[in-house]
Amino acid sequence: MIHLLDQTPEQLQAWLAGHGVPGYRVRQVWQWIYARGADNFDQMTDLPGELRQRLAAELAIWETRVAAHHKADDGAEKLLLELADGERIECVLLRDDRGHCTICVSTQVGCAMGCAFCASGMDGLVRNLSTGEILEQMLRLRQCLAEGERISHIVVMGMGEPLANLDGLLPALAVASSRDGLGIGARRITISTVGLPAGIHRLAGLNLQYHLAVSLHAADDALRDRL
Ligand code: SF4
Repeated sequence: MIHLLDQTPEQLQAWLAGHGVPGYRVRQVWQWIYARGADNFDQMTDLPGELRQRLAAELAIWETRVAAHHKADDGAEKLLLELADGERIECVLLRDDRGHCTICVSTQVGCAMGCAFCASGMDGLVRNLSTGEILEQMLRLRQCLAEGERISHIVVMGMGEPLANLDGLLPALAVASSRDGLGIGARRITISTVGLPAGIHRLAGLNLQYHLAVSLHAADDALRDRL
Protein backbone atom coordinates (compact mmCIF):
# COMPACT_ATOMS: atom_id res chain seq x y z
CA MET A 1 0.00 0.00 0.00
CA ILE A 2 1.12 3.54 -0.75
CA HIS A 3 0.80 6.03 2.11
CA LEU A 4 -1.37 8.77 0.62
CA LEU A 5 0.03 11.38 3.02
CA ASP A 6 3.51 10.75 1.62
CA GLN A 7 2.38 11.77 -1.85
CA THR A 8 2.77 15.26 -3.26
CA PRO A 9 -0.11 16.46 -5.46
CA GLU A 10 2.15 15.84 -8.46
CA GLN A 11 2.86 12.26 -7.38
CA LEU A 12 -0.82 11.63 -6.74
CA GLN A 13 -1.66 13.09 -10.13
CA ALA A 14 0.86 10.77 -11.77
CA TRP A 15 -0.65 7.81 -9.93
CA LEU A 16 -4.16 8.76 -11.04
CA ALA A 17 -3.01 9.34 -14.62
CA GLY A 18 -1.47 5.89 -14.59
CA HIS A 19 -4.92 4.53 -13.73
CA GLY A 20 -6.65 6.55 -16.44
CA VAL A 21 -8.19 9.02 -13.97
CA PRO A 22 -8.36 12.73 -14.92
CA GLY A 23 -5.99 15.05 -13.07
CA TYR A 24 -8.72 17.24 -11.54
CA ARG A 25 -9.58 14.39 -9.19
CA VAL A 26 -6.37 15.16 -7.26
CA ARG A 27 -7.82 18.39 -5.97
CA GLN A 28 -10.95 16.59 -4.79
CA VAL A 29 -8.96 13.93 -2.92
CA TRP A 30 -6.67 16.59 -1.46
CA GLN A 31 -9.62 18.66 -0.22
CA TRP A 32 -11.28 15.64 1.34
CA ILE A 33 -8.13 14.78 3.27
CA TYR A 34 -6.87 18.18 4.36
CA ALA A 35 -9.84 20.56 4.28
CA ARG A 36 -12.74 18.24 5.04
CA GLY A 37 -10.97 15.76 7.30
CA ALA A 38 -12.11 12.59 5.55
CA ASP A 39 -11.32 9.47 7.53
CA ASN A 40 -11.74 7.05 4.64
CA PHE A 41 -12.32 6.96 0.89
CA ASP A 42 -16.02 6.07 1.26
CA GLN A 43 -16.62 9.58 2.60
CA MET A 44 -15.37 11.10 -0.68
CA THR A 45 -18.85 11.07 -2.11
CA ASP A 46 -18.14 13.24 -5.15
CA LEU A 47 -15.71 10.62 -6.48
CA PRO A 48 -17.07 7.76 -8.59
CA GLY A 49 -17.58 4.61 -6.56
CA GLU A 50 -15.17 2.63 -8.72
CA LEU A 51 -12.41 5.18 -8.12
CA ARG A 52 -13.06 5.14 -4.38
CA GLN A 53 -12.68 1.37 -4.37
CA ARG A 54 -9.46 1.56 -6.35
CA LEU A 55 -8.05 4.23 -4.06
CA ALA A 56 -8.93 2.18 -1.00
CA ALA A 57 -7.32 -0.91 -2.51
CA GLU A 58 -4.00 0.74 -3.30
CA LEU A 59 -3.62 3.80 -1.06
CA ALA A 60 -3.69 4.05 2.73
CA ILE A 61 -4.74 7.30 4.41
CA TRP A 62 -3.66 6.07 7.84
CA GLU A 63 -0.51 4.15 8.62
CA THR A 64 -0.56 4.66 12.37
CA ARG A 65 -2.68 3.25 15.13
CA VAL A 66 -3.62 5.26 18.21
CA ALA A 67 -2.12 3.10 20.95
CA ALA A 68 -3.07 5.48 23.76
CA HIS A 69 -4.94 8.76 24.15
CA HIS A 70 -4.43 10.73 27.37
CA LYS A 71 -6.53 13.76 28.28
CA ALA A 72 -5.29 16.10 31.00
CA ASP A 73 -7.38 18.41 33.18
CA ASP A 74 -5.86 21.48 31.50
CA GLY A 75 -7.22 20.45 28.10
CA ALA A 76 -3.99 18.94 26.79
CA GLU A 77 -4.33 15.69 24.88
CA LYS A 78 -1.47 13.34 24.12
CA LEU A 79 -1.55 10.61 21.49
CA LEU A 80 0.78 7.63 21.50
CA LEU A 81 0.91 6.48 17.89
CA GLU A 82 2.13 3.08 16.77
CA LEU A 83 3.77 3.22 13.36
CA ALA A 84 3.52 0.54 10.68
CA ASP A 85 6.82 -1.02 11.81
CA GLY A 86 5.73 -1.15 15.45
CA GLU A 87 7.78 1.86 16.60
CA ARG A 88 5.98 4.40 18.75
CA ILE A 89 5.94 8.20 18.82
CA GLU A 90 4.02 10.86 20.71
CA CYS A 91 2.26 14.01 19.63
CA VAL A 92 0.35 16.52 21.72
CA LEU A 93 -2.53 19.01 21.47
CA LEU A 94 -2.27 21.97 23.85
CA ARG A 95 -5.12 24.38 24.56
CA ASP A 96 -4.65 27.76 26.24
CA ASP A 97 -7.07 30.24 27.78
CA ARG A 98 -6.95 32.42 24.66
CA GLY A 99 -8.54 29.67 22.64
CA HIS A 100 -5.34 28.68 20.88
CA CYS A 101 -4.93 25.05 19.92
CA THR A 102 -1.26 24.27 19.43
CA ILE A 103 -0.09 20.90 18.21
CA CYS A 104 3.35 19.50 18.92
CA VAL A 105 4.70 16.83 16.57
CA SER A 106 7.67 14.47 16.45
CA THR A 107 10.13 14.14 13.58
CA GLN A 108 12.13 11.04 14.49
CA VAL A 109 11.81 7.77 16.38
CA GLY A 110 14.36 8.29 19.14
CA CYS A 111 16.99 10.97 18.84
CA ALA A 112 20.73 11.10 18.36
CA MET A 113 21.26 14.32 20.32
CA GLY A 114 21.39 12.71 23.76
CA CYS A 115 20.32 15.72 25.84
CA ALA A 116 20.85 14.66 29.45
CA PHE A 117 17.37 15.58 30.69
CA CYS A 118 15.43 13.93 27.84
CA ALA A 119 14.10 10.39 27.73
CA SER A 120 13.60 10.47 23.94
CA GLY A 121 17.31 10.29 23.25
CA MET A 122 18.20 7.61 25.80
CA ASP A 123 18.37 4.81 23.23
CA GLY A 124 19.70 6.94 20.39
CA LEU A 125 18.16 7.45 16.99
CA VAL A 126 16.06 4.63 15.53
CA ARG A 127 14.95 6.31 12.29
CA ASN A 128 13.59 9.44 10.70
CA LEU A 129 9.85 9.82 10.29
CA SER A 130 8.49 10.11 6.77
CA THR A 131 6.61 13.17 5.57
CA GLY A 132 3.41 11.14 5.76
CA GLU A 133 4.07 10.08 9.34
CA ILE A 134 4.62 13.71 10.35
CA LEU A 135 1.45 14.85 8.57
CA GLU A 136 -0.50 11.98 10.09
CA GLN A 137 0.27 13.29 13.59
CA MET A 138 -1.25 16.63 12.58
CA LEU A 139 -4.38 15.00 11.18
CA ARG A 140 -4.77 12.67 14.16
CA LEU A 141 -4.52 15.63 16.54
CA ARG A 142 -6.99 17.61 14.46
CA GLN A 143 -9.47 14.81 15.03
CA CYS A 144 -9.22 15.55 18.77
CA LEU A 145 -10.57 19.09 18.31
CA ALA A 146 -14.06 19.95 19.44
CA GLU A 147 -16.63 21.63 17.21
CA GLY A 148 -15.52 25.19 16.50
CA GLU A 149 -11.87 24.60 17.41
CA ARG A 150 -9.09 24.72 14.84
CA ILE A 151 -5.34 24.25 14.93
CA SER A 152 -3.80 27.67 15.53
CA HIS A 153 -0.10 26.85 15.85
CA ILE A 154 2.31 24.01 15.16
CA VAL A 155 5.45 23.45 17.19
CA VAL A 156 7.93 20.87 15.97
CA MET A 157 9.19 20.01 19.40
CA GLY A 158 8.30 16.36 19.96
CA MET A 159 10.58 13.36 19.76
CA GLY A 160 13.66 13.89 17.58
CA GLU A 161 15.82 16.73 16.31
CA PRO A 162 13.84 18.40 13.49
CA LEU A 163 16.85 19.77 11.65
CA ALA A 164 18.25 16.26 11.37
CA ASN A 165 15.19 15.26 9.33
CA LEU A 166 14.49 18.26 7.12
CA ASP A 167 13.85 15.99 4.14
CA GLY A 168 10.84 14.53 5.95
CA LEU A 169 9.79 17.69 7.76
CA LEU A 170 9.86 20.40 5.10
CA PRO A 171 7.37 18.76 2.70
CA ALA A 172 5.06 18.14 5.68
CA LEU A 173 5.24 21.78 6.74
CA ALA A 174 4.67 22.86 3.14
CA VAL A 175 1.36 20.98 3.21
CA ALA A 176 0.53 22.23 6.71
CA SER A 177 1.10 25.85 5.72
CA SER A 178 -0.49 25.77 2.28
CA ARG A 179 -3.99 27.04 1.70
CA ASP A 180 -4.89 23.75 0.03
CA GLY A 181 -3.42 21.86 2.97
CA LEU A 182 -4.05 22.62 6.63
CA GLY A 183 -3.86 26.38 6.12
CA ILE A 184 -1.65 27.13 9.15
CA GLY A 185 0.31 30.31 8.37
CA ALA A 186 4.08 29.77 8.25
CA ARG A 187 4.55 32.38 11.00
CA ARG A 188 2.47 30.17 13.29
CA ILE A 189 4.88 27.29 12.88
CA THR A 190 7.91 26.94 15.15
CA ILE A 191 10.76 24.50 14.67
CA SER A 192 12.66 23.81 17.88
CA THR A 193 16.26 22.70 17.54
CA VAL A 194 19.36 22.16 19.61
CA GLY A 195 21.07 24.17 16.87
CA LEU A 196 22.50 21.94 14.13
CA PRO A 197 24.56 24.37 12.00
CA ALA A 198 24.05 22.52 8.70
CA GLY A 199 20.30 22.46 9.19
CA ILE A 200 20.18 26.13 10.18
CA HIS A 201 22.14 27.07 7.06
CA ARG A 202 19.86 24.99 4.87
CA LEU A 203 16.75 26.59 6.38
CA ALA A 204 18.23 30.07 6.06
CA GLY A 205 18.92 29.45 2.38
CA LEU A 206 15.30 28.52 1.77
CA ASN A 207 14.05 31.84 3.17
CA LEU A 208 10.97 30.29 4.74
CA GLN A 209 8.92 32.13 7.35
CA TYR A 210 8.86 29.48 10.05
CA HIS A 211 10.11 30.49 13.48
CA LEU A 212 13.23 28.76 14.68
CA ALA A 213 13.63 28.23 18.44
CA VAL A 214 17.17 27.28 19.39
CA SER A 215 17.27 25.46 22.70
CA LEU A 216 20.63 25.67 24.45
CA HIS A 217 21.17 23.69 27.63
CA ALA A 218 23.93 23.53 30.18
CA ALA A 219 24.39 21.83 33.52
CA ASP A 220 25.59 24.87 35.49
CA ASP A 221 25.05 28.62 35.66
CA ALA A 222 28.54 29.54 34.41
CA LEU A 223 28.08 27.62 31.17
CA ARG A 224 24.48 28.83 30.83
CA ASP A 225 25.78 32.42 31.07
CA ARG A 226 28.36 31.76 28.34
CA LEU A 227 25.70 30.25 26.09
S1 SF4 B 1 17.08 17.10 20.72
FE1 SF4 B 1 15.07 17.09 21.71
S2 SF4 B 1 14.32 14.98 21.48
FE2 SF4 B 1 16.52 14.95 21.06
S3 SF4 B 1 17.47 14.38 23.03
FE3 SF4 B 1 17.46 16.65 22.90
S4 SF4 B 1 15.56 17.30 23.90
FE4 SF4 B 1 15.37 15.08 23.47
